[in-house]
Amino acid sequence: MNRSVKVAVIGAGVSGLSAARELQREGHRVVVFEKHHRIGGAWVYDPRTESDPLSVDPNRETIHSSLYLSLRTNLPRPLMGFLDYPFSKEETGDPRTFPGHEEVLRFLDKFADEFGLHSLIRFNTEVVRVEQIDSDWVVESNPRGSASGSQERETFEAVVVCTGHYTTPRLAKIPGIERWPGFQMHSHNYRVPEPFRGQIVVIIGLGPSGFDISREVAPIAKEVHMATKIPHGMDFKLENRDNIFYHTTIKQVYEDGLVTFEDGFSIRANAMIHCTGYRYNFPFLDTNGAVSVEKKWVEPLYKHVFPPALAPSLSFVGLTYLEAIFHVIELQSKWVARVLSGKVHLPTEEEMMISVQKDYQQLEEKGVPMDQTHCLRPFQADYKHWLAAQCGLAPLEEWRENMFAECIKNFFEKKDKFRDQWDDDYWDAIICS
Ligand code: FAD
Repeated sequence: MNRSVKVAVIGAGVSGLSAARELQREGHRVVVFEKHHRIGGAWVYDPRTESDPLSVDPNRETIHSSLYLSLRTNLPRPLMGFLDYPFSKEETGDPRTFPGHEEVLRFLDKFADEFGLHSLIRFNTEVVRVEQIDSDWVVESNPRGSASGSQERETFEAVVVCTGHYTTPRLAKIPGIERWPGFQMHSHNYRVPEPFRGQIVVIIGLGPSGFDISREVAPIAKEVHMATKIPHGMDFKLENRDNIFYHTTIKQVYEDGLVTFEDGFSIRANAMIHCTGYRYNFPFLDTNGAVSVEKKWVEPLYKHVFPPALAPSLSFVGLTYLEAIFHVIELQSKWVARVLSGKVHLPTEEEMMISVQKDYQQLEEKGVPMDQTHCLRPFQADYKHWLAAQCGLAPLEEWRENMFAECIKNFFEKKDKFRDQWDDDYWDAIICS
Protein backbone atom coordinates (compact mmCIF):
# COMPACT_ATOMS: atom_id res chain seq x y z
CA MET A 1 0.00 0.00 0.00
CA ASN A 2 1.25 3.52 -0.73
CA ARG A 3 -1.15 6.10 0.62
CA SER A 4 -0.63 9.79 -0.13
CA VAL A 5 -1.84 12.18 2.56
CA LYS A 6 -2.05 15.95 2.86
CA VAL A 7 0.43 16.93 5.57
CA ALA A 8 1.13 20.18 7.37
CA VAL A 9 4.72 20.55 8.54
CA ILE A 10 5.15 23.33 11.10
CA GLY A 11 8.58 24.96 10.98
CA ALA A 12 11.31 25.12 8.34
CA GLY A 13 14.42 24.49 10.43
CA VAL A 14 16.49 21.31 10.08
CA SER A 15 13.54 19.18 11.21
CA GLY A 16 10.93 20.81 8.98
CA LEU A 17 13.20 20.73 5.91
CA SER A 18 14.08 17.10 6.49
CA ALA A 19 10.44 16.15 7.14
CA ALA A 20 9.30 18.02 4.01
CA ARG A 21 11.93 16.28 1.89
CA GLU A 22 11.07 12.79 3.14
CA LEU A 23 7.31 13.32 2.98
CA GLN A 24 7.58 14.65 -0.56
CA ARG A 25 9.84 11.77 -1.54
CA GLU A 26 7.22 9.35 -0.22
CA GLY A 27 4.55 10.98 -2.40
CA HIS A 28 2.67 12.97 0.23
CA ARG A 29 1.23 16.42 -0.41
CA VAL A 30 3.18 18.80 1.82
CA VAL A 31 2.63 22.34 3.05
CA VAL A 32 5.30 23.81 5.32
CA PHE A 33 4.33 26.74 7.56
CA GLU A 34 7.22 28.96 8.63
CA LYS A 35 6.72 32.09 10.71
CA HIS A 36 10.08 33.57 9.68
CA HIS A 37 10.91 34.98 6.21
CA ARG A 38 13.55 32.30 5.53
CA ILE A 39 14.48 28.71 6.25
CA GLY A 40 17.02 27.63 8.88
CA GLY A 41 15.31 28.09 12.26
CA ALA A 42 17.84 28.01 15.09
CA TRP A 43 20.66 28.63 12.57
CA VAL A 44 19.38 32.07 11.53
CA TYR A 45 21.38 34.52 13.65
CA ASP A 46 19.24 37.37 14.95
CA PRO A 47 21.11 40.32 16.48
CA ARG A 48 17.92 41.41 18.28
CA THR A 49 17.21 40.19 21.79
CA GLU A 50 13.93 40.01 23.67
CA SER A 51 12.79 43.10 25.61
CA ASP A 52 13.03 41.10 28.85
CA PRO A 53 16.58 39.64 29.02
CA LEU A 54 15.32 36.77 31.19
CA SER A 55 12.41 36.04 28.79
CA VAL A 56 9.79 35.72 31.51
CA ASP A 57 7.50 38.62 30.55
CA PRO A 58 4.49 36.96 28.87
CA ASN A 59 3.91 40.09 26.75
CA ARG A 60 7.39 40.20 25.21
CA GLU A 61 7.90 39.63 21.51
CA THR A 62 9.73 36.33 21.23
CA ILE A 63 12.88 35.91 19.15
CA HIS A 64 13.32 32.37 17.82
CA SER A 65 17.07 31.87 17.59
CA SER A 66 19.42 31.61 20.56
CA LEU A 67 22.65 31.89 18.54
CA TYR A 68 25.44 34.14 19.77
CA LEU A 69 27.53 35.96 17.20
CA SER A 70 30.72 33.93 17.68
CA LEU A 71 29.01 30.51 17.73
CA ARG A 72 30.79 27.63 16.05
CA THR A 73 29.34 24.14 15.83
CA ASN A 74 30.16 21.85 18.72
CA LEU A 75 30.19 18.82 16.39
CA PRO A 76 32.44 18.24 13.38
CA ARG A 77 30.97 18.42 9.87
CA PRO A 78 30.57 14.66 9.33
CA LEU A 79 28.10 14.59 12.24
CA MET A 80 26.17 17.60 11.02
CA GLY A 81 25.13 16.55 7.56
CA PHE A 82 22.36 14.28 6.41
CA LEU A 83 23.10 10.61 5.80
CA ASP A 84 22.93 10.99 2.02
CA TYR A 85 23.76 14.69 1.82
CA PRO A 86 26.99 15.46 3.69
CA PHE A 87 28.01 18.81 5.12
CA SER A 88 31.10 19.14 2.93
CA LYS A 89 33.63 21.93 2.81
CA GLU A 90 33.08 24.36 -0.06
CA GLU A 91 35.77 26.32 -1.85
CA THR A 92 34.22 29.64 -0.91
CA GLY A 93 32.88 28.88 2.55
CA ASP A 94 34.23 28.53 6.08
CA PRO A 95 36.98 25.91 5.76
CA ARG A 96 36.91 24.75 9.39
CA THR A 97 35.75 21.31 10.49
CA PHE A 98 33.78 22.98 13.30
CA PRO A 99 32.56 25.99 11.28
CA GLY A 100 30.78 29.16 12.30
CA HIS A 101 26.98 29.27 12.34
CA GLU A 102 26.78 31.08 8.96
CA GLU A 103 28.23 28.01 7.28
CA VAL A 104 25.48 25.76 8.69
CA LEU A 105 22.87 28.13 7.32
CA ARG A 106 24.56 28.10 3.89
CA PHE A 107 24.46 24.30 3.98
CA LEU A 108 20.75 24.29 4.83
CA ASP A 109 20.04 26.77 2.02
CA LYS A 110 21.82 24.44 -0.38
CA PHE A 111 19.91 21.45 0.93
CA ALA A 112 16.58 23.25 0.49
CA ASP A 113 17.52 24.35 -3.06
CA GLU A 114 18.75 20.91 -4.05
CA PHE A 115 15.46 19.23 -3.11
CA GLY A 116 13.13 22.01 -4.25
CA LEU A 117 11.79 22.63 -0.76
CA HIS A 118 11.24 26.40 -1.00
CA SER A 119 8.16 25.92 -3.16
CA LEU A 120 6.51 23.91 -0.38
CA ILE A 121 6.98 26.61 2.25
CA ARG A 122 4.60 29.40 3.23
CA PHE A 123 6.96 31.97 4.69
CA ASN A 124 5.97 34.68 7.20
CA THR A 125 3.10 32.43 8.24
CA GLU A 126 2.82 31.61 11.92
CA VAL A 127 0.65 28.70 12.96
CA VAL A 128 -1.50 29.92 15.82
CA ARG A 129 -3.76 26.93 16.40
CA VAL A 130 -3.80 23.22 15.55
CA GLU A 131 -6.66 21.03 16.64
CA GLN A 132 -8.25 17.78 15.57
CA ILE A 133 -11.84 17.99 14.41
CA ASP A 134 -13.32 14.58 13.67
CA SER A 135 -10.41 12.78 12.07
CA ASP A 136 -8.86 15.82 10.36
CA TRP A 137 -6.47 18.45 11.67
CA VAL A 138 -7.45 22.08 11.33
CA VAL A 139 -4.46 24.40 11.08
CA GLU A 140 -5.05 28.10 11.71
CA SER A 141 -2.29 30.36 10.53
CA ASN A 142 -1.51 34.02 10.50
CA PRO A 143 0.14 35.14 7.26
CA ARG A 144 2.00 38.34 8.03
CA GLY A 145 1.00 41.15 5.71
CA SER A 146 -1.81 39.18 4.04
CA ALA A 147 -4.26 41.28 2.08
CA SER A 148 -7.15 40.29 4.32
CA GLY A 149 -5.01 40.53 7.46
CA SER A 150 -7.01 37.68 8.87
CA GLN A 151 -6.28 34.16 9.98
CA GLU A 152 -6.52 31.30 7.56
CA ARG A 153 -7.92 27.83 8.30
CA GLU A 154 -7.00 24.77 6.36
CA THR A 155 -7.63 21.08 6.87
CA PHE A 156 -4.95 18.40 6.78
CA GLU A 157 -4.89 14.64 7.26
CA ALA A 158 -1.67 14.81 9.26
CA VAL A 159 0.50 17.32 11.11
CA VAL A 160 4.24 17.08 11.79
CA VAL A 161 5.43 19.48 14.49
CA CYS A 162 8.97 20.73 13.80
CA THR A 163 9.09 23.95 15.81
CA GLY A 164 12.34 23.33 17.74
CA HIS A 165 12.98 23.47 21.47
CA TYR A 166 15.63 26.14 22.07
CA THR A 167 13.46 29.24 22.33
CA THR A 168 11.56 29.16 25.65
CA PRO A 169 14.10 29.54 28.50
CA ARG A 170 14.13 27.44 31.65
CA LEU A 171 15.36 29.13 34.84
CA ALA A 172 16.81 27.62 38.00
CA LYS A 173 15.01 28.35 41.29
CA ILE A 174 17.35 30.52 43.38
CA PRO A 175 16.35 31.61 46.90
CA GLY A 176 16.31 35.42 47.14
CA ILE A 177 16.56 36.05 43.38
CA GLU A 178 13.56 38.41 43.29
CA ARG A 179 15.51 40.93 45.45
CA TRP A 180 18.96 40.41 43.95
CA PRO A 181 19.89 43.78 42.34
CA GLY A 182 22.30 42.65 39.60
CA PHE A 183 21.65 42.40 35.86
CA GLN A 184 20.25 39.02 34.77
CA MET A 185 20.04 37.46 31.34
CA HIS A 186 19.22 34.03 29.95
CA SER A 187 21.68 32.72 27.35
CA HIS A 188 18.80 32.88 24.84
CA ASN A 189 19.42 36.66 24.81
CA TYR A 190 23.22 36.56 24.83
CA ARG A 191 24.81 37.75 21.58
CA VAL A 192 28.16 39.41 22.39
CA PRO A 193 30.28 39.77 25.57
CA GLU A 194 30.45 43.59 25.62
CA PRO A 195 27.67 44.20 28.24
CA PHE A 196 29.80 42.31 30.78
CA ARG A 197 32.99 44.36 30.44
CA GLY A 198 34.63 44.95 33.83
CA GLN A 199 31.87 43.07 35.66
CA ILE A 200 31.90 40.24 38.18
CA VAL A 201 29.69 37.73 36.40
CA VAL A 202 28.06 34.56 37.70
CA ILE A 203 27.24 32.03 34.97
CA ILE A 204 24.85 29.23 35.85
CA GLY A 205 25.31 25.97 33.96
CA LEU A 206 28.19 24.33 32.13
CA GLY A 207 26.39 22.97 29.08
CA PRO A 208 27.59 24.01 25.60
CA SER A 209 26.32 27.61 25.97
CA GLY A 210 27.65 28.09 29.51
CA PHE A 211 31.02 26.72 28.41
CA ASP A 212 31.31 28.96 25.32
CA ILE A 213 29.94 32.10 26.96
CA SER A 214 32.26 31.84 29.98
CA ARG A 215 35.26 31.69 27.63
CA GLU A 216 34.06 34.66 25.65
CA VAL A 217 33.14 36.85 28.61
CA ALA A 218 36.24 36.14 30.75
CA PRO A 219 38.78 38.18 28.70
CA ILE A 220 36.81 41.40 29.25
CA ALA A 221 35.08 40.70 32.57
CA LYS A 222 36.74 41.17 35.96
CA GLU A 223 35.85 37.69 37.18
CA VAL A 224 33.61 34.86 36.01
CA HIS A 225 32.14 32.49 38.61
CA MET A 226 30.57 29.31 37.31
CA ALA A 227 27.73 27.70 39.26
CA THR A 228 27.72 24.09 38.12
CA LYS A 229 26.58 20.61 38.94
CA ILE A 230 29.85 19.10 37.71
CA PRO A 231 31.23 16.37 39.94
CA HIS A 232 33.81 17.49 42.48
CA GLY A 233 37.38 17.23 41.22
CA MET A 234 36.60 17.60 37.52
CA ASP A 235 39.10 20.12 36.19
CA PHE A 236 37.90 22.78 33.76
CA LYS A 237 40.64 25.31 34.43
CA LEU A 238 42.28 26.87 31.38
CA GLU A 239 46.04 27.36 31.06
CA ASN A 240 45.76 30.90 29.75
CA ARG A 241 42.91 32.22 31.86
CA ASP A 242 42.95 32.71 35.61
CA ASN A 243 39.73 34.64 36.21
CA ILE A 244 37.21 31.81 35.73
CA PHE A 245 36.30 30.06 38.97
CA TYR A 246 34.26 26.89 39.37
CA HIS A 247 31.79 26.36 42.19
CA THR A 248 28.87 24.17 43.11
CA THR A 249 25.29 25.38 42.62
CA ILE A 250 24.07 28.65 44.13
CA LYS A 251 22.67 28.44 47.68
CA GLN A 252 21.18 31.91 48.06
CA VAL A 253 21.44 35.46 46.74
CA TYR A 254 20.92 38.69 48.69
CA GLU A 255 19.74 42.30 48.31
CA ASP A 256 23.31 43.63 48.55
CA GLY A 257 24.41 41.62 45.51
CA LEU A 258 25.99 38.76 47.47
CA VAL A 259 25.82 35.31 45.86
CA THR A 260 26.55 32.31 48.07
CA PHE A 261 27.33 28.84 46.73
CA GLU A 262 26.72 25.43 48.30
CA ASP A 263 30.49 24.93 48.62
CA GLY A 264 30.68 27.85 51.09
CA PHE A 265 32.19 30.39 48.64
CA SER A 266 30.52 33.79 48.31
CA ILE A 267 31.01 36.81 46.04
CA ARG A 268 29.32 40.17 45.45
CA ALA A 269 28.50 40.02 41.74
CA ASN A 270 27.10 42.52 39.19
CA ALA A 271 25.59 40.18 36.65
CA MET A 272 24.22 36.68 36.21
CA ILE A 273 23.85 34.73 32.97
CA HIS A 274 21.45 31.79 33.20
CA CYS A 275 22.68 29.07 30.83
CA THR A 276 20.05 26.72 32.17
CA GLY A 277 18.48 25.36 29.02
CA TYR A 278 15.03 25.50 27.49
CA ARG A 279 11.60 23.93 27.84
CA TYR A 280 9.33 22.33 25.29
CA ASN A 281 6.50 24.61 24.30
CA PHE A 282 3.82 24.23 21.62
CA PRO A 283 1.49 27.16 22.35
CA PHE A 284 -0.53 26.53 19.16
CA LEU A 285 -1.29 22.86 19.80
CA ASP A 286 -4.60 21.72 21.28
CA THR A 287 -4.69 17.95 21.73
CA ASN A 288 -7.43 17.91 24.32
CA GLY A 289 -4.98 16.61 26.91
CA ALA A 290 -3.52 13.79 24.79
CA VAL A 291 -0.07 15.41 24.76
CA SER A 292 1.37 17.22 27.75
CA VAL A 293 4.40 19.48 28.23
CA GLU A 294 3.48 20.27 31.84
CA LYS A 295 6.53 18.41 33.04
CA LYS A 296 9.92 19.09 31.47
CA TRP A 297 9.38 16.65 28.64
CA VAL A 298 6.69 15.85 26.07
CA GLU A 299 4.44 12.94 27.02
CA PRO A 300 3.40 10.38 26.16
CA LEU A 301 5.45 9.86 22.99
CA TYR A 302 6.22 6.55 21.32
CA LYS A 303 9.94 6.62 20.42
CA HIS A 304 10.01 10.43 20.93
CA VAL A 305 7.81 10.94 17.83
CA PHE A 306 4.20 9.68 17.96
CA PRO A 307 1.65 10.38 20.73
CA PRO A 308 -0.07 6.96 20.94
CA ALA A 309 -3.64 8.31 21.13
CA LEU A 310 -3.19 10.51 18.03
CA ALA A 311 -0.77 8.44 15.96
CA PRO A 312 0.01 8.46 13.17
CA SER A 313 -1.71 11.70 12.19
CA LEU A 314 0.22 13.79 14.73
CA SER A 315 3.98 13.50 15.10
CA PHE A 316 6.96 15.45 16.42
CA VAL A 317 10.36 15.54 14.74
CA GLY A 318 13.53 16.85 16.40
CA LEU A 319 12.71 16.65 20.11
CA THR A 320 15.73 14.53 21.02
CA TYR A 321 19.19 15.90 21.83
CA LEU A 322 22.80 15.07 22.74
CA GLU A 323 23.48 13.12 19.60
CA ALA A 324 24.33 13.78 15.97
CA ILE A 325 20.93 15.34 15.72
CA PHE A 326 20.76 15.86 11.93
CA HIS A 327 20.99 12.07 11.43
CA VAL A 328 18.32 11.38 14.01
CA ILE A 329 16.03 14.03 12.54
CA GLU A 330 16.47 12.49 9.10
CA LEU A 331 15.62 9.00 10.35
CA GLN A 332 12.61 10.24 12.31
CA SER A 333 11.41 12.06 9.18
CA LYS A 334 11.76 8.98 7.00
CA TRP A 335 9.91 6.89 9.59
CA VAL A 336 7.00 9.36 9.80
CA ALA A 337 6.76 9.51 5.99
CA ARG A 338 6.70 5.70 5.71
CA VAL A 339 4.18 5.26 8.52
CA LEU A 340 1.84 7.80 6.85
CA SER A 341 2.09 6.05 3.51
CA GLY A 342 1.25 2.72 5.12
CA LYS A 343 4.61 1.08 4.33
CA VAL A 344 5.38 0.71 8.02
CA HIS A 345 2.82 -0.13 10.69
CA LEU A 346 2.77 1.20 14.22
CA PRO A 347 1.84 -1.05 17.15
CA THR A 348 -1.60 -0.55 18.72
CA GLU A 349 -2.17 2.43 20.99
CA GLU A 350 -2.04 0.15 24.02
CA GLU A 351 1.25 -1.43 22.90
CA MET A 352 2.77 2.00 22.29
CA MET A 353 1.76 3.11 25.80
CA ILE A 354 3.41 0.01 27.26
CA SER A 355 6.56 0.84 25.29
CA VAL A 356 6.54 4.41 26.68
CA GLN A 357 6.25 3.08 30.23
CA LYS A 358 9.11 0.66 29.59
CA ASP A 359 11.28 3.54 28.37
CA TYR A 360 10.51 5.49 31.57
CA GLN A 361 11.41 2.42 33.62
CA GLN A 362 14.69 2.12 31.74
CA LEU A 363 15.51 5.75 32.54
CA GLU A 364 14.89 5.07 36.21
CA GLU A 365 17.04 1.94 36.19
CA LYS A 366 19.93 3.86 34.60
CA GLY A 367 19.48 6.74 37.06
CA VAL A 368 18.65 9.23 34.28
CA PRO A 369 16.47 12.11 35.61
CA MET A 370 13.05 12.25 33.95
CA ASP A 371 13.68 15.78 32.66
CA GLN A 372 16.25 14.16 30.36
CA THR A 373 13.63 11.90 28.79
CA HIS A 374 14.49 13.12 25.27
CA CYS A 375 18.26 13.03 25.82
CA LEU A 376 19.33 10.12 23.64
CA ARG A 377 22.41 9.15 25.59
CA PRO A 378 23.02 6.38 26.73
CA PHE A 379 20.40 4.77 24.46
CA GLN A 380 21.42 6.50 21.21
CA ALA A 381 22.90 3.55 19.33
CA ASP A 382 19.89 1.27 19.87
CA TYR A 383 17.51 4.08 19.03
CA LYS A 384 19.23 4.97 15.73
CA HIS A 385 19.54 1.34 14.67
CA TRP A 386 15.89 0.77 15.48
CA LEU A 387 14.84 3.83 13.46
CA ALA A 388 17.06 2.80 10.55
CA ALA A 389 15.43 -0.63 10.54
CA GLN A 390 11.96 0.99 10.41
CA CYS A 391 13.16 2.89 7.34
CA GLY A 392 14.49 -0.24 5.67
CA LEU A 393 18.10 0.94 6.11
CA ALA A 394 21.16 -0.90 7.37
CA PRO A 395 22.44 0.11 10.83
CA LEU A 396 24.43 3.36 10.67
CA GLU A 397 28.19 3.00 10.21
CA GLU A 398 30.12 2.54 13.42
CA TRP A 399 32.41 5.55 12.82
CA ARG A 400 29.48 7.89 13.50
CA GLU A 401 29.06 6.54 17.02
CA ASN A 402 32.83 6.52 17.62
CA MET A 403 33.22 10.06 16.34
CA PHE A 404 30.56 11.38 18.71
CA ALA A 405 32.26 9.63 21.64
CA GLU A 406 35.59 11.15 20.54
CA CYS A 407 33.98 14.61 20.49
CA ILE A 408 32.94 14.25 24.12
CA LYS A 409 36.40 13.00 25.12
CA ASN A 410 38.07 15.78 23.13
CA PHE A 411 35.87 18.40 24.81
CA PHE A 412 37.03 17.35 28.29
CA GLU A 413 40.68 16.91 27.32
CA LYS A 414 41.29 19.89 25.03
CA LYS A 415 38.83 22.26 26.73
CA ASP A 416 38.50 25.51 24.74
CA LYS A 417 40.76 24.13 21.99
CA PHE A 418 38.45 21.19 21.32
CA ARG A 419 37.24 22.60 18.00
CA ASP A 420 40.70 23.34 16.61
CA GLN A 421 42.62 20.25 17.72
CA TRP A 422 40.72 17.66 15.76
CA ASP A 423 42.50 15.01 13.74
CA ASP A 424 40.89 15.42 10.29
CA ASP A 425 43.31 13.06 8.56
CA TYR A 426 42.62 10.25 11.01
CA TRP A 427 38.85 10.60 10.65
CA ASP A 428 38.93 11.09 6.86
CA ALA A 429 40.80 7.77 6.59
CA ILE A 430 38.26 6.01 8.85
CA ILE A 431 35.28 7.40 6.92
CA CYS A 432 36.78 6.38 3.57
CA SER A 433 37.83 2.88 4.68
P1 FAD B 1 14.61 24.99 14.78
O1 FAD B 1 15.87 25.12 14.04
O2 FAD B 1 14.43 25.78 16.02
O3 FAD B 1 13.44 25.33 13.74
C1 FAD B 1 12.11 25.51 14.13
C2 FAD B 1 11.42 26.38 13.08
O4 FAD B 1 10.03 26.44 13.40
C3 FAD B 1 11.91 27.82 13.05
O5 FAD B 1 12.23 28.19 11.73
C4 FAD B 1 10.73 28.64 13.59
O6 FAD B 1 10.65 29.94 13.03
C5 FAD B 1 9.55 27.77 13.18
N1 FAD B 1 8.36 27.94 14.02
C6 FAD B 1 8.28 27.87 15.36
N2 FAD B 1 7.00 28.05 15.76
C7 FAD B 1 6.26 28.24 14.64
C8 FAD B 1 4.87 28.46 14.39
N3 FAD B 1 3.98 28.53 15.39
N4 FAD B 1 4.46 28.61 13.11
C9 FAD B 1 5.34 28.54 12.07
N5 FAD B 1 6.67 28.33 12.26
C10 FAD B 1 7.12 28.18 13.52
N6 FAD B 1 23.01 21.19 16.82
C11 FAD B 1 24.05 20.57 16.21
O7 FAD B 1 23.87 19.55 15.56
N7 FAD B 1 25.32 21.09 16.31
C12 FAD B 1 25.58 22.25 16.99
O8 FAD B 1 26.71 22.68 17.05
C13 FAD B 1 24.49 22.91 17.63
N8 FAD B 1 24.68 24.08 18.30
C14 FAD B 1 23.61 24.71 18.84
C15 FAD B 1 23.81 25.91 19.53
C16 FAD B 1 22.74 26.60 20.09
C17 FAD B 1 22.97 27.89 20.83
C18 FAD B 1 21.44 26.08 19.97
C19 FAD B 1 20.26 26.80 20.56
C20 FAD B 1 21.21 24.88 19.32
C21 FAD B 1 22.30 24.18 18.76
N9 FAD B 1 22.12 22.97 18.09
C22 FAD B 1 23.19 22.33 17.51
C23 FAD B 1 20.80 22.34 18.03
C24 FAD B 1 19.93 22.90 16.90
O9 FAD B 1 18.81 23.41 17.48
C25 FAD B 1 19.63 21.84 15.90
O10 FAD B 1 20.82 21.62 15.16
C26 FAD B 1 18.56 22.16 14.86
O11 FAD B 1 18.70 23.46 14.39
C27 FAD B 1 17.14 21.94 15.35
O12 FAD B 1 16.29 22.14 14.25
P2 FAD B 1 14.70 22.17 14.37
O13 FAD B 1 14.20 22.29 12.99
O14 FAD B 1 14.24 21.02 15.18
O15 FAD B 1 14.35 23.47 15.20
